[in-house]
Amino acid sequence: MITIKSEREIELMRHAGMLVSKMHQYIKPFIKEGITTKELDKLCEEFILKNDGVPTCKGFEGFPCALCTSVNDVVVHGIPDDTKLKNGDIITIDVVIGYKGYQGDAAWTYAVGEIDQDKQYLMEHTEQSLYEGIKMAIPGNRIGDISAAVQKYAEDHHLGVVRELCGHGIGRDMHEDPEVPNYGIPHTGPLLKPGMVICIEPMITFGHRDVYIEDDEWTVRTLDQSPAAHYEHTVLITEDGYEVLTPRLDEEM
Ligand code: MG
Repeated sequence: MITIKSEREIELMRHAGMLVSKMHQYIKPFIKEGITTKELDKLCEEFILKNDGVPTCKGFEGFPCALCTSVNDVVVHGIPDDTKLKNGDIITIDVVIGYKGYQGDAAWTYAVGEIDQDKQYLMEHTEQSLYEGIKMAIPGNRIGDISAAVQKYAEDHHLGVVRELCGHGIGRDMHEDPEVPNYGIPHTGPLLKPGMVICIEPMITFGHRDVYIEDDEWTVRTLDQSPAAHYEHTVLITEDGYEVLTPRLDEEM
């Protein structure tokens, strides 16, 4: 069931989304060679708790941490551990924060030190594929318009679109209806209406789009070991367009 949020609910979701934005801004300077993903997780969890948020991912279906930290060929759901980041890595930090029962969700891929041109290209065009999707998130359009826009942009840039995972509605729960795939056909799928809140989140690979899940049952990797990037915003459909509830607070982020 797709829920339409009330003004009060939207206010709480704005607050949750802003906490997500602030956490990303907070952690960015720590993303350097030598730090472990577990240390990043600890810093973020402390930040979330200090700001009256709830680290929603921690304990969700047994996931052990506040963040998903996905390095290089890990697409999503990497579990923070003692691995140290190296110069030239890319890392996606994906977080869901609850505030008074409502959720905000955003993921960003960050460069560790100097990265090669392939990773730079992947990051730049994965982020742009998200914006191409967001542009279509207006009342009267359908989910398929968002999906098709993401897919077209990514594939026009010769990148792989992961199909096994998709975006989602969000509200009281971090995963609500509808599903928001990153591939699809324009003018198909659920109709977008004011008050709907969805997460749009392209997961894009530099090589082939095929992925596999590791034995830990969380970590999703590219089959050909090519790097992957992932950008996500929580987006409210408004009367005349959309509002990003997890805005970037630092344009250079
Ligand atoms: Mg997320």
